[in-house]
Amino acid sequence: MTGQPRAVGADALWHPFAPMQRVRHRKLTISRADDVWVWDSTGRKYLDATAGLWYCNVGHGRHEIIDAVTNQLRKLDCYQIFNDIANEPALELAHAISSRAPVDNAKVFFTSGGSDAIDTAAKLARAYFTARGRPERTVLLHRTHSYHGTHGHGTALAGIPANRVGAPFVGDVEQVPNDDVGALEEAILAAGPDRVAAFFAEPVLGAGGVVAPPDGFLRAAAEVCHRHGILFVADSVICGFGRLGNWFGIERFGVRPDMITFAKGVTSGYQPLGGVVVGDDVAAPFWEEPNHIFRHGQTYAGHPVACAAGLANIEVLESRELLAQSLRLEIQLAERLRSLADHPLLAEVRAGVGFLGALQLAPERLAGQPELVRLVVDAIREEGVLARLMGEGIGFSPPLTATDDQLDQLTDAVCAGLDHVQ
Ligand code: PLP
Repeated sequence: MTGQPRAVGADALWHPFAPMQRVRHRKLTISRADDVWVWDSTGRKYLDATAGLWYCNVGHGRHEIIDAVTNQLRKLDCYQIFNDIANEPALELAHAISSRAPVDNAKVFFTSGGSDAIDTAAKLARAYFTARGRPERTVLLHRTHSYHGTHGHGTALAGIPANRVGAPFVGDVEQVPNDDVGALEEAILAAGPDRVAAFFAEPVLGAGGVVAPPDGFLRAAAEVCHRHGILFVADSVICGFGRLGNWFGIERFGVRPDMITFAKGVTSGYQPLGGVVVGDDVAAPFWEEPNHIFRHGQTYAGHPVACAAGLANIEVLESRELLAQSLRLEIQLAERLRSLADHPLLAEVRAGVGFLGALQLAPERLAGQPELVRLVVDAIREEGVLARLMGEGIGFSPPLTATDDQLDQLTDAVCAGLDHVQ
């Protein structure tokens, strides 16, 4: 059993996205971690095949980041960056991100995480058009199966229907099929091309099931957007910082976006941080004209400790050549997951674009047994591997430091877990 003896205070913590009626009695308490490994509170060891929540790209326990964080805490433990105040790590990290982004003369607006970044990009898109004298451009487009976090705009932009709770409070949002440029253009024409502000797209859809775009789709979508004067926002919260073998994921598809949202891998999760990379043109009214202020920001934006973690994380990604490693690993992971394709419990294996993958359970098996995915994830956990429950599928996104042997272990555990449940 992976259920733990109840810890002190176990009945107060409300877990995100969790069926609390069950989870309150049965949870896995993670106590420590090292590289690709985590240990629970009973001392049991697991391979972290999810890198936490798609974020621990450099692996756990990297002393370079831990030292950077502790040194920064000793020097300047916290300070805000509103108005004309700055701190050195925020300035340096903004520069480091800007110089790596596939966006000309990029500006970086820091947030506390990915949902904040999405809300920031959505508000900034509308504020930009208002500043340009086009306040009627308010419509935001997103794709089916998309996940853009859980704040106001992200909830409205949810392509996973169950996540759209509360969405009616944000208007002017339209969903388009995730792989059809013709349908995108039709949606733009239907909304009125002069009313659309921005199109949000994950380079590879993450929480929606690890779905890579069809060849040429994102580039064609960006061309359509730009032809109609619509901003292309790449949501690289999962795909950035090595997960797709480059800095922001979107480079892989030959698109130069107007904005990029990022979080997770920017610090590999060692500290909470997110942000928006903003292109020259979108920033211009606010950077060059005295009468436009983007009246938006969070207290912890540009937190010096989080930014110090981000700087050290980028150094680790570079010194260990983890972007190139990710490209090699994506092939290894895809081969191994595909070797399971004929398993009777599976309908589809999705992998091969980025170091992430998903197994889709067969609909006929799920029909009579809605708990099936959880049972498989639990069985894989029993085999010593943490996989991610994602709707009707199981997701994998190990740290970029994983070895081929560890991927073998992952595959063996998944196979045994599937066999156990079938
Ligand atoms: N955008 C994408 C693509 C994500 O996958 C996520 C989180 O998984 C978010 C936004 C929201 O980020 P956060 O959970 O840091 O608020």
